[in-house]
Amino acid sequence: MAARERLLVVGGDAAGMSAASQARRLRAPDDLEIVAVERGHHASYAACGIPYYVGGVVEELDSLIARTPAEFQERGIDLRLRTEAVEIDPGGGRVRVRSLDGGGESWEPYDHLVIATGAVPTRPRLPGADAEGVHGVQILDDGVAIRRAVEDGSPRRAVVVGGGYIGLEMAEALVMRGLEVSLVDFADQPMRTLDPDMGALVADAMRGIGVKLYLGEPVEGFDTSPDGRVTAVRTESRTLPADLVVLGLGVRPASGLAREAGIETGPTGGIVTDRRMRTRTDRVWAAGDCVETRHLISGAPVAIALGTHANKQGRVAGIGIGGGYATFPGVIGTAVSKICHVEVARTGLNEAEAAAAGFETLSVAVGSTTRVGYIPGGAAMTTKLIAERRSGRLLGAQIVGEENAAKRIDGLAIALWNGMTVEEMTGLDLGYAPPFAPVWDPVLIAARKAADAVERDMRSGS
Ligand SMILES: Cc1cc2nc3c(=O)[nH]c(=O)nc-3n(C[C@H](O)[C@H](O)[C@H](O)COP(=O)(O)OP(=O)(O)OC[C@H]3O[C@@H](n4cnc5c(N)ncnc54)[C@H](O)[C@@H]3O)c2cc1C
Repeated sequence: MAARERLLVVGGDAAGMSAASQARRLRAPDDLEIVAVERGHHASYAACGIPYYVGGVVEELDSLIARTPAEFQERGIDLRLRTEAVEIDPGGGRVRVRSLDGGGESWEPYDHLVIATGAVPTRPRLPGADAEGVHGVQILDDGVAIRRAVEDGSPRRAVVVGGGYIGLEMAEALVMRGLEVSLVDFADQPMRTLDPDMGALVADAMRGIGVKLYLGEPVEGFDTSPDGRVTAVRTESRTLPADLVVLGLGVRPASGLAREAGIETGPTGGIVTDRRMRTRTDRVWAAGDCVETRHLISGAPVAIALGTHANKQGRVAGIGIGGGYATFPGVIGTAVSKICHVEVARTGLNEAEAAAAGFETLSVAVGSTTRVGYIPGGAAMTTKLIAERRSGRLLGAQIVGEENAAKRIDGLAIALWNGMTVEEMTGLDLGYAPPFAPVWDPVLIAARKAADAVERDMRSGS
């Protein structure tokens, strides 16, 4: 019988624990020993739930933890919290780990290594950025700290810096807690992953729930009190008093540990893997926010930090380590979010991304309702489609609207994934009943308008 192998996982969240769980499913403990190290206080947690924990929608922190270390232990996975990997030695097949509580260090050998170190949130190098009361949002410990600040510190005014989806969701959470919320972004619109016309709808929705927006204003620094607490956020145009500041400035792949070990990273800074999530270094796999992947529409390498990809990629790595075969094909940039009752969704390329990839495009944006007019409770939604000139192939879609509008993006993502043209989409057999959609679903109306635009463009002969 072959000797027992050892899998070492660095990073105990979505990607890392998916890989560990899949490998365990396929290989018994007497065939594969599995050790996972996680430097935080929590593992296998839902970072996506942080805004809802801060906002009070989720009461108990434990609800955000999918599995405890004891549950992993029962499955034969040795999960070690507060244990940080500080060096990888690929030649020696070992990782140096440090106990963050005890302080001791040891070398852990591996036959297979999964790097699942996630992402590093951007922190501005500005005066006062590290002051007390300025919070990043990345791991569960951050959510705990912000909720504690909201509940124990009785803050009145909050400033969110950054208008991406995390900024949006945190603004909502703080509004729900009764704070006066301002959002500052150097860009002219929130949600820069949307086109400006759709971003403007998001801005209106934010103003509608009382968030004050300061757009096109780079932050220049943070004022602090003599005891080191943040008191205000300064932009080039104003000083915004703040008892609490939340940063939502985006993330980059946490690939430093891998890079220092000579494991290849790509132009996005993410670890390079093949479709089975193997790095170019023998016996080393990587998954989740720390890797880069391929955008299936633009063909470009991208690092898109989303839990949906991390879980799938971790599963693929675990199946490979378990002796099976699975692949991660790449992404098309589908994402959904919401700010109170207004939902936001996108898939594929926006107009700027399509132009950067060399496409010439035609776009249509269509306003409609989520239900037939005679059924009470319907709400407005705007659907935008971006199609390639001539071919009419769908390249991207965006939705801003209410009442489950955002999840319509999934149908559009499937059309995009399968290379459909907007003309082909006009005949899609989508579900209809008055409480769910108008007779002509907003997606079908948008497809028809886009197909008309492509046709007109062809006729114009330009
Ligand atoms: C507020 C918020 C909301 C989000 N909402 C959504 C959403 O709605 N939908 C969605 O798809 N995604 C969402 N995401 C993104 C999603 O949470 C991440 O993409 C996902 O958690 C990535 O999983 P991961 O395992 O790759 O990395 P992470 O979850 O970041 O886990 C990496 C782990 O590795 C540990 N680690 C790092 N370095 C070391 C080391 N050297 N040694 C030991 N441990 C280490 C870290 O402590 C961390 O726990 C959200 C994220 C945040 C912060």
